[in-house]
Amino acid sequence: ISKLSKTYKMGGETLKALDDVTLTVDQGDFIAIIGPSGSGKSTLMNVIGCLDAPSSGEYWLDGEEVSRLRENKLAEIRNRKIGFIFQGFNLLSRLSAIENVELPLIYRGVPAKQRREQAVEALTKVGLEERIHHRPSELSGGQQQRVAIARALAGNPPILLADEPTGALDTKTGKEVMGYMKELNALGHTIVLITHDPVISQQAKRVVRIMDGKLNEEGGGRNELLTSG
Ligand code: ATP
Ligand code: MG
Repeated sequence: ISKLSKTYKMGGETLKALDDVTLTVDQGDFIAIIGPSGSGKSTLMNVIGCLDAPSSGEYWLDGEEVSRLRENKLAEIRNRKIGFIFQGFNLLSRLSAIENVELPLIYRGVPAKQRREQAVEALTKVGLEERIHHRPSELSGGQQQRVAIARALAGNPPILLADEPTGALDTKTGKEVMGYMKELNALGHTIVLITHDPVISQQAKRVVRIMDGKLNEEGGGRNELLTSG
């Protein structure tokens, strides 16, 4: 991401949610973006996840400049490369764990048999192979978040984007979920995690701080990878 900005126009006012952001994330990295409420974390996540276009600047994903692509092309990249994990899990309460995991695969047109196999594989990766027919209400909070992670993993996308994945969990369960995120990173998934919790962010390989739409990398061994706006 290079010199990227995102402004929102509200009536006569313009609000700069991202201000000249420059950030490089390597394949296989595990980066935490930390910042207070309203600092621009979700806005940045939406741009990284090809859900929203920046107002200016560049976004190169695997050697392709994607910030000016049309929605159908963006959706195709999103489906192939990116898995999303959200704070409130966004699980459907009437569906079992495996049906929740299969849902995005239905949208992607994956045939039924393959879908089931991919869903079982993803649930196994997060240690829930014995809970696949449980509904969300029959699972603990940490298990529900693991179903949400499995759903993001189904189809094996190389990149996982997590917006406050531990936000709805107690400290112990949050740590457990972070353990799974670390394992997925060790399996080769690139992870971008958004949080406002400094303890959670310490689990990542790199921490980047966002404040009023501007990025700053925290001290540590890998500062050379990033220049901040
Ligand atoms: P939180 O921790 O509360 O989730 P955040 O860091 O994710 O906060 P963002 O959602 O990225 O913050 O919002 C950044 C700024 O942009 C905020 O001031 C917000 O009010 C503004 N903003 C976000 N989305 C829009 C929108 N669609 N239209 C106008 N302003 C917006
Ligand atoms: Mg947010």
